[in-house]
Amino acid sequence: MTNKAKSILGEVFGYSEFRSHQKKIIENVINKKDTLVIMPTGGGKSLCYQIPALIFKGLTVVVSPLISLMKDQVEQLSELGVSALFLNSTLSGEEYSRNVELLKKNEVKLLYLAPENLLSQRTLSLLSSLQIDCLAIDEAHCISEWGHDFRPEYRKLADVRSRFPSATCIALTATATQRVREDIKSSLGFDVSNEFIASFDRQNLYLHITPKNKPVAQTMDFLSNHLGESGIIYCFSRRQVDSLYEVLEDSGYSVRPYHAGLSDKERADNQDLFIKDDVQIIVATIAFGMGINKPNVRFVIHFDLPKNIETYYQEIGRAGRDGLKAYCLLLFGYGDIQKIKYFINQKSEDEQRTANIHLNALLQFTETEICRRRPLLAYFGEEYHADKCNMCDNCLAEDKKLVDITILAQKFLSCVKRTDEMFGINHIIDILRGSQSQKICNFEHEKLSTYGIGKEYTRKQWFHLARQFINKGLMIQDAKYGGLKLTDRSYDVFKGKEAVFGMIEEEHILHVKKKEMETEYDYDRVLFEKLRIMRKELADNAGVPPYVIFSDKTLIEMSAFYPRSEESLLHIHGVGAVKHKKYGACFLDIIDSHCKEHRIEIQPVNKQKVPPHMPQPSRKSEKKRYMIIGETYNMGKSVDQIMEMFNIKKVTAIDHLYNYLQSGQTLRSDGILEISEVSSDQHRIILETFHKFGTEFLKPVFDALEGRVSYDELKIFRLYCISMDNTSRDFIQ
Ligand code: ADP
Ligand code: ZN
Repeated sequence: MTNKAKSILGEVFGYSEFRSHQKKIIENVINKKDTLVIMPTGGGKSLCYQIPALIFKGLTVVVSPLISLMKDQVEQLSELGVSALFLNSTLSGEEYSRNVELLKKNEVKLLYLAPENLLSQRTLSLLSSLQIDCLAIDEAHCISEWGHDFRPEYRKLADVRSRFPSATCIALTATATQRVREDIKSSLGFDVSNEFIASFDRQNLYLHITPKNKPVAQTMDFLSNHLGESGIIYCFSRRQVDSLYEVLEDSGYSVRPYHAGLSDKERADNQDLFIKDDVQIIVATIAFGMGINKPNVRFVIHFDLPKNIETYYQEIGRAGRDGLKAYCLLLFGYGDIQKIKYFINQKSEDEQRTANIHLNALLQFTETEICRRRPLLAYFGEEYHADKCNMCDNCLAEDKKLVDITILAQKFLSCVKRTDEMFGINHIIDILRGSQSQKICNFEHEKLSTYGIGKEYTRKQWFHLARQFINKGLMIQDAKYGGLKLTDRSYDVFKGKEAVFGMIEEEHILHVKKKEMETEYDYDRVLFEKLRIMRKELADNAGVPPYVIFSDKTLIEMSAFYPRSEESLLHIHGVGAVKHKKYGACFLDIIDSHCKEHRIEIQPVNKQKVPPHMPQPSRKSEKKRYMIIGETYNMGKSVDQIMEMFNIKKVTAIDHLYNYLQSGQTLRSDGILEISEVSSDQHRIILETFHKFGTEFLKPVFDALEGRVSYDELKIFRLYCISMDNTSRDFIQ
C-alpha cells in the first residue's frame, strides 16, 4: 500500500519525497483509522486525503468551508488528471446534473462540498446510494466554539458520520490549541492514538522585525529589492491601505487595495488579479487571504503591528506555501502598541485581560534578542531546539553591541519604587522626562527626586529600555492594568550587585548589519522569465491561475537544471505524468531553444549536484552581480549598455549600482543623470531637495517635490548625489 502511495506521489503529483508525517498519515487513513492532522498552512495537508482517495475504490467526500478553495483544489486536481468535482450553489442546473451523473457512474474520486451542501437532504440521499470510503474534514477547527472560526453547520457533521459507517474520517486543521484539538476529537468521536501533529516551524520563512520610523520609505526600499515578486502588505486600517496603495501605485508598482470598504466585486476582482499574477502586490487589511491558496507569495509585510501572535503567524503563513524562501517583514512601532491598547480598552473586562496577555506575548516576540523561532514556536506549545535558525534577523545579525545600561535601569526602577509600584510605563517615562502633564501635577510627581532625570533619552528609547527591563525580569507588568512591580532582582540592581547590559534603540537596531539571507540554488533568470510567459499564456487560455499549470518551484528547477528530454523533465519537481503529457513539449521547446541560443550543453538532471553552469552558493553570485555591474559601470560602460549586457531593466540596474555604493565602493558620477527623463531645468531643485533631506530615504524628497518626480527617477538622482560624494553642495553654490 505504501508503495502505491509513493508511486502516486511521483506519477500523479510529480513530487519525489513525502514531507514529514505525510506518509504515516496516509498509511493510517488507508488502514481505515480515523485521523486528526494538525499541520501549519502550506505543510501539505491536502495530499493526506488526496492520495488515499486515489487508492480507495469508492468516493472520498471533502468538506471545506470556502468555495474559492474548493474551486482551486478541483482545478488543480483536474490539471493532474484526477477526477474531482464539487457540488454547490455556484453551479448551473445543467452542470449540477452532469456532476451527479458522473458520481452515479462511479467516475469520481473526490467530491468537494461545503458543510451546508453536505447536510442537505438532496445530497444526503445521493450519497446514500454511493460507496463512500473516506470523509475528509478540512479546516476542522470550524467545529469548535473555541476556534477562531466557529461554524454551527460543522457541529452537525458528527451526525453525518453515522450515515456512512464504512467511511474513515480524516480531520485537518492548522489551529493548534489543545482545547480546539480536544473539541474536534470528541465531536467526531475520535480515538486518541490517531493524532498527528507536525511542527509549526515554517523553515522557509525569513522573519525580520525592524523599528518603524519612516514606514512608507522603508516599504519602498524593501520593494525596490524585491521587484517582480508577489507579496501582501497588511495594514491596520482601511485608510492606511488606501494611502499606501496610492503611493505605491504612483511609483509604478503593480498593486491593488483590499479591504471591507470596497464593493464585493472590487474585492473579488483584485484578489483574482493577484492570484493570476496580473497584479503583484496587494495592500490589505486583515480581511485578505482567507480563501487564497496562491503558493508563490514571496513576501508579507506588516506595515502595522498585528493584534497578536496568532494573527501574525496566520498572515505570514500565506507566504512561501511552495516551500521556497519567502520574506516576512514587520515594522514595529511603539505608537502601534498604543493603538492596539486603545482598542483593547473598549472591550469588556474579561476580554481585556485575554487581549493584554496576547499583546504581551507578541511584544516578547518582537523584542527578543534570541532566535525569533523560539518565542514564536513556544507560543504554540512547541520547543525550538536549535540554537540558531539562520532564517531570522536575530540569527543573522552580526553581534549586536550590548552596552551597560545599569544606570538607566536604576533610574527607571527607582522611579517605579518612588511611585509605590502603582503606575505603568508611560507615566514613569513622563516623570523621567520631566513632563508637565495633568497626571503628574495631580500626583505631585514633579516633586520626586527622579523627576526629569532621564531627559537625554526620547520617549521611544525609554519605552524600548523599559521593555528590556521587563524581559530581563527586573520588573513585572500587571497583565490587566499595565502597572509595574519590582522583583528581587530590581534590588540587586539598586545595590549595584547586578550590572545590566542591553541596547539603546537608535544606535543599534536601525543599523543592524545583516549577513545576507541564503537563497536557493541559483537559476537562469532569463529562461525563468521565458517559461513564466509561456505558463501565463497557457493559464489564461485555460482560465486558471498560473500556479495550477506549474508552480514557481517547477519553473525554477527547469531554469536551473535545463532538462532537454522527456525523461529528464520527469525529474523536475511537480511534473507528473499528466502534466508532462499536456505541457512537456511546450516547455521543452523553450528550454531547448534557449540552450541553443546560449550554447548550454546537455546534461543529465541530477538534483543532488550543483546545477550546471550555475555557481553555488548563490549568496556569492548575488553579491557578485552588483559588484560586477558596479565595476562594469566604472570601466566606462553606460547604464543602457549594462541593461543590455545583463538583460535587466533600468530600475534594476540603478538598484544594483546603489547596492554597489552601499557596500562601500565608489562610483563614477558622470553619465548617471543622462538616463533621467526629467527635464534638465528640474535637476537643480531635485538635487537641492536631496541636499536638504539627505539620501537615506526617498519619501521625504518625494513629498517635498509634491509627487511630481517618480520614485524611479528619484533613485537616479540619489545615486548621483551619493556618487558625487558631497559635490551636491558645490552644485548648489
Ligand atoms: P496546506 O493545505 O497544509 O496549507 P497544501 O496541501 O496546499 O498545504 O500544500 C502546500 C503546497 O505543498 C502545495 O503546493 C502542495 O502541492 C505542496 N506539497 C505537498 N506535499 C508535498 C511533497 N511531499 N513534496 C512537494 N510538495 C508538496
Ligand atoms: Zn533565528
